[in-house]
Amino acid sequence: MQAEILMIGTELLLGQIQDTNATYMARVLAAAGVNLYWKTTVGDNPGRICGALQCGLERSDAILCSGGLGPTVDDITRECVAQVLDVPLDYHEDLYRVIVERFQRRNRPLSENNRRQAFLPRGAAPIVNSNGTAPGLIAESGNKTIICMPGVPAELYPMFEGVVIPYLQWKYEVRETIFYEVLKVSDVGESRVDHAIGDLIAVQSNPTIGLLASPGFVRVRIAAKACSEAEARALIAPVAVLVRERLAGLTDRIEVEM
Ligand code: ATP
Ligand code: MG
Repeated sequence: MQAEILMIGTELLLGQIQDTNATYMARVLAAAGVNLYWKTTVGDNPGRICGALQCGLERSDAILCSGGLGPTVDDITRECVAQVLDVPLDYHEDLYRVIVERFQRRNRPLSENNRRQAFLPRGAAPIVNSNGTAPGLIAESGNKTIICMPGVPAELYPMFEGVVIPYLQWKYEVRETIFYEVLKVSDVGESRVDHAIGDLIAVQSNPTIGLLASPGFVRVRIAAKACSEAEARALIAPVAVLVRERLAGLTDRIEVEM
């Protein structure tokens, strides 16, 4: 299966906030064995959000959106999903009750625009938001899926790991997940490490080898896709031995990063 992520919010395009949701989602998807092939960022603009959704439906199985589910007029993700799927938005009294109760519990005044968060594109299922007001949503179109989650990280994380990942793994029968081992190589520059193991990087497909340079050390990541951690470790082990052999002449400071 192929997934893509769609980050929605003009503040992201203005550089007002760091797009930590995208990094987070990418990391969790990789660990869950879901292939992530595209990442798009759009502002709170209906034409461009719809365009991005349309494009995602053409090239990916699942589009995972974050942001724009809030109560204000610039939160238009729901409307855009309904438009792209060509369905109306339906009001759900039960979702509104949950929102009202949340406000009552916190003694916060409810405003009329919170009602907007009780609407879902017809046929979509809500995702419970345990840390905020706006429910997420799962909308299906044939074998394609659009999933919308809030932008607030504390609201996104539990939904993503608790509902979205298991749902994607079930629906698209994702059985293999990714495990990796990282060798932290000190006292050698990235180009010398690359020179020593570049041919391995080029030919390996499972596991794959990747380099990430930081000041003072280089990380060599050996990542395997497999049905279990034990199977992945068995794939990684001989490659780790090979990498260590190649680097042995350059430094004796090679450690497994925990
Ligand atoms: P809310 O219901 O709170 O309005 P929302 O779904 O409408 O949530 P946004 O309005 O897009 O989400 O974003 C709300 C806040 O969440 C932003 O001000 C920002 O602090 C945070 N946020 C949004 N997108 C991201 C992101 N990609 N990475 C990190 N934080 C984000
Ligand atoms: Mg908002």
